[in-house]
Amino acid sequence: MNLKALPKIDLHLHLDGAIRVATIAELGEELGIRLPTYDAKELAKFVQVDRDCRSLTDFLKRFEVFYPILPFAQTQERIAYELCEDCARDNVIYFEARFAPALCTSPKFTMEDAIVAALEGFRRGQRDFGVRCGTILCCYRSVSVRENVETVKLAHKYRGQGVVGIDLAGDENKFPAAPHAEAFALARKLEIPITIHAGEGNSPENIREAVFTHGATRIGHGVSLQHDPELLKAVRDRGTVFEICLTSNLQTCTVPSVQAHPFRKFLDEKLRVTLNTDDPAISNITLTDEFELAVREFRLKPAEVRGLLLNAAQAVFGEVSLQRDLTERFTHLKFG
Ligand SMILES: [Zn+2]
Repeated sequence: MNLKALPKIDLHLHLDGAIRVATIAELGEELGIRLPTYDAKELAKFVQVDRDCRSLTDFLKRFEVFYPILPFAQTQERIAYELCEDCARDNVIYFEARFAPALCTSPKFTMEDAIVAALEGFRRGQRDFGVRCGTILCCYRSVSVRENVETVKLAHKYRGQGVVGIDLAGDENKFPAAPHAEAFALARKLEIPITIHAGEGNSPENIREAVFTHGATRIGHGVSLQHDPELLKAVRDRGTVFEICLTSNLQTCTVPSVQAHPFRKFLDEKLRVTLNTDDPAISNITLTDEFELAVREFRLKPAEVRGLLLNAAQAVFGEVSLQRDLTERFTHLKFG
């Protein structure tokens, strides 16, 4: 199987985790922001992780190096535009990029400014590189409820202009989802599709809460579901979709090895599983790399690869016509 040439979908992709290292260095210089170094090769050592097992907290620390470049229109627009180019190069024909507007603000730059600039970058990128994409706005576990409610309101406002859903991101081990229930109640009321990062740590309870309390139809990671067979049946019956990110799970120490990942178990249990990159620049991977890894480690057959892509096509938060087009395309997929 030529997995690079295969058209693909990435549903779990963080905009700020996809910034090219060279772009961080260039923007740092242009904007006069202090970085550990302005040499892209050297900077990679600060922002990228190797395949060693580390903690989620340590993984998230990599982002702190370049957070100061985020609250600028030129940053948001450029990184959104470049992500379209990077996806096109990897034959990702549709992706849903997510970011937390609350982490992109300064006294001179609002959450709404960040959304407007990113959407403009995606608009130009889709036009120039022939890819399609949607934007998911992330509520964040460690920010205030007020900011998360505001994020949902902004998602509603920009829904016709590229925003397709809402997420909850951040450190699951340190910050529970419960205090942010109000934001998700509003998203349900406004009928905004919901995905939530849950079960990346040890607790299957976080998955139960995300699906049955907050109304998530997709779960980011969900690795700890393997420890709760009853919940596994319940979410399978409900049709919950799992956004699996293998390399990320390895690097955050969610699993000790790729072989120890419940990916194969989830496939065999007929869960609706998809394969995604999470933070391709931090992890130094492409979606092709992730498919190659899965095919190699879990001996995926062509029909299983097609099944993963069909699951993704049917789970997109974009409009129904897009879902139909993508489903049609992957139903008739030929493998080179
Ligand atoms: Zn993620």
